[in-house]
Amino acid sequence: MRKKVIAGNWKMFKTVAEARSFLTAFIPLVEGSSAQVLFAVPFTALHAAVQAVAGSKIVIGAQNMHDAKEGAFTGEISSSMLKEAGAQFVLLGHSERRAIFHESNEFIQRKVKSALAAGIKVILCIGESESEREAGKTEEVLRAQLDGSLPEMQFADLDQLTIAYEPVWAIGTGKSATAAMAQEAHRFCRMHLGKKWGEERARRVALLYGGSVKPENCKEILAQPDIDGALVGGASLDPQVFAKIALSS
Ligand code: PEP
Repeated sequence: MRKKVIAGNWKMFKTVAEARSFLTAFIPLVEGSSAQVLFAVPFTALHAAVQAVAGSKIVIGAQNMHDAKEGAFTGEISSSMLKEAGAQFVLLGHSERRAIFHESNEFIQRKVKSALAAGIKVILCIGESESEREAGKTEEVLRAQLDGSLPEMQFADLDQLTIAYEPVWAIGTGKSATAAMAQEAHRFCRMHLGKKWGEERARRVALLYGGSVKPENCKEILAQPDIDGALVGGASLDPQVFAKIALSS
């Protein structure tokens, strides 16, 4: 049985002081949650967030990483810097990174490889745009992103990998996929991973849905058989709202 995972993506929100006060308010609200709760926080808030969650089961991670160990990459951050700050996982290939910062599958694949080699868990994001869905290309896009962004995986690495299916048209738009649409895409991803790695291995990988998840729609989405949790942007910024999602799973 895969445990439910509820991950918040704070994007470029929350200073150190705001992160501390959010977590102080949030931790007691989710004491009864059986889900694994994660936050991908801004780099500057990593250390403070790790300190703030000490003694709780909440896990802190980052939102991006460079694949190189070190070097002349102004403005970038390495796996060892993230590890030192206490990050246990990193989001890679978020659609905002792919679209706004032009990150390719090939670059994302190098980052996934580098994070896993450094002992940092990965949440790899994939998802189709609205025009791709309308053109009937959803599965083609998901297949290309899975094949292009994932490196060769060792068996032990499979437990370190989570995949978030996030249709681009549902991110930050208030327009979530229906539970049935999300399940269909998740089932396709699991089947495709099964073809690559074998069914047993594919069953080990947690698949999260992301795209306008809210307390009002999370129950139905999280009840789908191939959906192991949610990656939540906007609704993770308020402790009361995000706690409702964490407690629904
Ligand atoms: C996200 O940023 O990954 C996301 C799913 O955002 P939102 O929940 O705001 O749609």
